[in-house]
Formats: sequence, C-alpha cells, structure tokens
Amino acid sequence: MDATSQQKDFIKGGAFLIEDRTASEVFTPEDLTEEQRMIGETTREFVDTEVRPNIAEMERHNWQLVRELIVKAGELGLLGANIPEEYGGLELDQTTGVVVAENMGRAGGFGVGYGAQTSIGLLPILYFGSEELKQKWIPPIVSGEKITAYCLSEAGSGSDALGAKANAKLSDDETHYVLNGEKMWITNGGFADVFIVFAKVDGEKKQFSAFVVERSDNCRPGAEEHKMGIKSSSTTPLILSDARVPVGNLIGNVGDGAKIAFNILNVGRFKLGASVTGGAKLALHEAIRYANERQQFGKSISSFGAIKHKLAEMAIKTWVSESITYRTVGMIDALIGDGASAEKKLQSIEEYAVESSINKVACSEALDFVVDEMVQIYGGYGYSPS
Ligand SMILES: Cc1cc2nc3c(=O)[nH]c(=O)nc-3n(C[C@H](O)[C@H](O)[C@H](O)COP(=O)(O)OP(=O)(O)OC[C@H]3O[C@@H](n4cnc5c(N)ncnc54)[C@H](O)[C@@H]3O)c2cc1C
Repeated sequence: MDATSQQKDFIKGGAFLIEDRTASEVFTPEDLTEEQRMIGETTREFVDTEVRPNIAEMERHNWQLVRELIVKAGELGLLGANIPEEYGGLELDQTTGVVVAENMGRAGGFGVGYGAQTSIGLLPILYFGSEELKQKWIPPIVSGEKITAYCLSEAGSGSDALGAKANAKLSDDETHYVLNGEKMWITNGGFADVFIVFAKVDGEKKQFSAFVVERSDNCRPGAEEHKMGIKSSSTTPLILSDARVPVGNLIGNVGDGAKIAFNILNVGRFKLGASVTGGAKLALHEAIRYANERQQFGKSISSFGAIKHKLAEMAIKTWVSESITYRTVGMIDALIGDGASAEKKLQSIEEYAVESSINKVACSEALDFVVDEMVQIYGGYGYSPS
C-alpha cells in the first residue's frame, strides 16, 4: 500500500503532539512500493560503484569529475524524481524523492551538491518561475548538463536571511536588473552555470526578490572555502559586480523572495533528514563490520560491552531517524494526493514545516552521534582513516 492510499484523513501539521494515530496511518519504509524500492536500489548501486570510489579524487576538488557524475545521475533519472515529465523529470511522488535522497546520503559531500542541484537550486524555478524560465532551465538541470546553485546567505546574514545586502536595480530602459553584492557559502558555487540569487530591489526589504543569474565575469565564484568536512562539495562565495539580468529572469514578482526562499527550504529540510539518515545507516554498517573484524585481547571488539552499547545507541538513533523521515513524507504525499498542482504540492509540504524542521535537526544530530561513535570504534584508524 502506498502513502496516498494508506492515509485517508487529513493529519494536521504538528498534530503528533496532541492526537493519536493508528498504526495503519503511519507510513514506514515497509510500505514502499516495488517501484520505489527499485529506484532506491538503482541509486545505491550508482553511489556505491560510481561515486564512492571517486570521493578522494573529488575531495581534491576535481569538479569536472563531479560534473560527469551528475550527468550520469541524470541519465539514470536521479536528478528529476519529483519533476514533471514535460520538463524531463519522472514526476514521481515525494516519497520516491526521499528514497533517492536517503541513498544519495551514502555519497558524502557529493550528496550535498546533488541536493543543491535537485532541490534548492531547481525548485524555485519549478514552483515560482515563468513558463519560459521553466522550459529554458529545468530540462538541462534535470539532465545534469547545467549545474545550479542557491544563493541566499551572505557574510552578514545567515539565519537572518532577510538582512541580505545584495542589491538589484532596474535599468533605465527597464529591460534589465543590475545586481551587486556578495553571497557566501554557496554549494556548487565553484562550477555552477546558473545561480538562484536573492537580492533586494532598490535595497528595500519589502522588495526582496529571486533572480536566475547566469555565470559570467560579473557573476563569478570566489575562492573555495576550507571546510571541516564534506570536501567533495564545492562551497564558495558568489561575487556580483554589475551583473546584468534580463527582467524575464525575475522569479515570480518583486517582493516574492521571502516566500520563495522559505518555502523551498521546507523541501530542503525533509530531504536533508532523509539524506543524513542514509549516511548514518552506512556508518553503522561499517562500524559493525569493523567491530566484528577487529581483534583485541584475542577477541572481536564487538564482544565487549562498551562497544555493544555504542552500536546499540547508534542503531536506536538511526532507526528513529528513518522512522520520522518516512512518517513525514508519508503524510506529505497523502495530503498532496493524485494529480495535484504545483501550488497544492507546496502547500502540503508547508503543512508539515514543523516536522520537516524536526527531521533536519534530529536526523543531522543522529548522524553526528553515529559518526562520532564510529570514529571511537575504529580507534586510531578512526582518526587516520587511510
Ligand atoms: C557547507 C555549507 C553549505 C552551505 N550552502 C549554502 C547554499 O548553498 N546556499 C546558501 O544560501 N547558504 C548556504 N549555507 C549557509 C547556511 O545556510 C548558513 O550557514 C546558515 O543559514 C546559518 O547562518 P550563519 O552561518 O550566518 O549563522 P548565524 O545566523 O550567524 O548563526 C550563528 C549561531 O547563532 C544561532 N542563532 C541565529 N539566530 C538565532 C536566534 N534568533 N535565536 C537563537 N539562536 C540564533 C544559530 O543557530 C547559530 O548557532 C551553507 C553553509 C555551509 C556551512
């Protein structure tokens, strides 16, 4: 039974705090359809055979290799699970997108770039862009021919996204906006072809807006950030210096920026929960394998109580992550139903904004815990893995 047929009643966002639901109303991975399982297996095989063997090379910032792997993911249909067929996608439900994201989570930093390409860097155009923008940009992004990035944060504004200083000014002949400013921590920044840039028209907060901006000398990445992790994902500033953007590249209307930015982040949140759950499952699996193989005091270290305790705590947190991930997306798909408009899809996702935020935080913290314990189980090899 899939999510849509399983849940008949509308479940209000946040209602888990005050309402009981029956077991049959709660979506779990056991409810996945054959098709969803097959797409999950395709993703896992792609990640394990094509991506993971190349992570060390990608960590040396071989962005050409990342591009080639993104194209391969596109050929397998993995860049457009939730995108309408008319723009080159598979038009499948959100649950399928979560299954793909979970398995992509095994890909380390590559999975982070994949997330920007398929989610925050693409969905503003799909849900809020003009037909012309959709037709021009979505097919090449879904095939991997073009790489995209989402540019909201700035050096002085992260959580407080509306504090952004990037400015857009309409040209005198009203054919172009001229963008100036500097964005910060842009995933895929080093090699993206197109950027979703948030800027204030005439510096006015009420006129915070989103634009599609092509890479050029006037819209170019700065130096790669030196990060503590996910090094196979490019993260750079984006420098806008008199970047001329045709008025048709405005996404939605002037002043729609906040609505676009925050609605799209809801999707990014529940997909990120799925992705880090995939990473936690891989880490747990590897930790169990190593604990069984590693001998100390004449025994496998997995026979020691302290190691068993660590593995049990890792398993508990991973299971909780998996459970909330699929329960949330099951509710989202049930509310979306069949043949929903883009607007209805977004509204349904927004209904579970609280659950999506919980997923992002709780599943990320679970991964943090699981990986930390994995490092402990590996001992010295955990700190110097290769
Ligand atoms: C690897 C990486 C990739 C990224 N990719 C992108 C991207 O592709 N596009 C993009 O636009 N951005 C991206 N970001 C930026 C990211 O979205 C921001 O880092 C995030 O929004 C937090 O902003 P900040 O770093 O400025 O922290 P701040 O907002 O300065 O927050 C600092 C601390 O204060 C806390 N805090 C802030 N406000 C409050 C409050 N009201 N109450 C209590 N505590 C508060 C925060 O929780 C945090 O602990 C990326 C960041 C990283 C590290």
